[in-house]
Amino acid sequence: MKNIAVIGSGTMGNGIAHTFAQFGYAVNLIDINADALKKAIDTISKNLDRQVAKGTLSENDKENTLKNLSTHTDLKSAVANVDLVVEAATENIDLKLKIFKDLDAFTKPETILATNTSSISITQIAAVTNRGDKVIGMHFMNPVPIMKLVEVIRGYGTSNVTTNLVMELSQKLDKVPVEVNDYPGFVANRILMPMINEAIYSLYEGVAGVYEIDTVMKLGMAHPMGPLQLADFIGLDVCLAILNVLHQGFGNPKYAPCPLLVNMVTAGKKGVKSGEGFYDYSNGIKEAKVAAKFS
Ligand code: NAD
Repeated sequence: MKNIAVIGSGTMGNGIAHTFAQFGYAVNLIDINADALKKAIDTISKNLDRQVAKGTLSENDKENTLKNLSTHTDLKSAVANVDLVVEAATENIDLKLKIFKDLDAFTKPETILATNTSSISITQIAAVTNRGDKVIGMHFMNPVPIMKLVEVIRGYGTSNVTTNLVMELSQKLDKVPVEVNDYPGFVANRILMPMINEAIYSLYEGVAGVYEIDTVMKLGMAHPMGPLQLADFIGLDVCLAILNVLHQGFGNPKYAPCPLLVNMVTAGKKGVKSGEGFYDYSNGIKEAKVAAKFS
């Protein structure tokens, strides 16, 4: 595999494109929004600068990584010659089904179609294509260039050949792939999201404040980041979408999203990407402080 397409250039798409490009793959980064593509290249460039400053990458590696990247707004032409597509567009089932229908029509028959979805069924996505054996989940973690895990999710019809190729490819990106089966939330979010939801419930019910809840989990459980701040980093809209999938998929009320989370997303407070969630990021991530609403 040499040529990769990444669909969606938001939080995850730019990190996935960065990682493939850094390891020598030619990457077509695709988005419907030209401004998002510009922002993604800026973000990748800044993150590469950080790697150079840390001494984990040379200036030459940085230049080569940027050379391996190209940006596109036309899906059809950008996926025509690739060996693998990694879809990282907005977490919305109808959108993803439409993208995979198009990918099935626009790519070579042997192209592997992977999705970075956090929670949508791989089997359901595969069902809109004529190549269920070549559709797979490739769930990277945020921030992609740093986090080691790739959750590799086998849909009902995903073949051993596809699974092995994606496992090997993940290792070539210096990641640790873990194979899991296709049930709501897979493993990562089935365990993480109920914890985040419970943290939001603790805030909603007045058990404790944002600072207190995050400090308990950071200092008491050795988590590098508290659950409320982690939710801000993931995106509160993404958290809500995943909880809805868990709730509907298992039909169990324990997964029902906290009304406070629903309200915040409705009000446009999506966390880091919108500048405010449980914390206020108007002075940058390093200067994050508890949002006025919760202080
Ligand atoms: P995001 O909102 O930051 O970015 C989504 C991007 O997709 C936007 O730039 C948008 O313009 C683009 N897009 C929308 N429709 C498109 C289309 N038809 N064609 C091309 N681009 C399109 O979202 P994100 O947080 O990067 O999440 C992307 C995917 O990754 C989701 O499936 C999400 O569940 C998954 N994911 C997110 C995280 C996380 O921490 N945020 C972690 C793991 C997986």
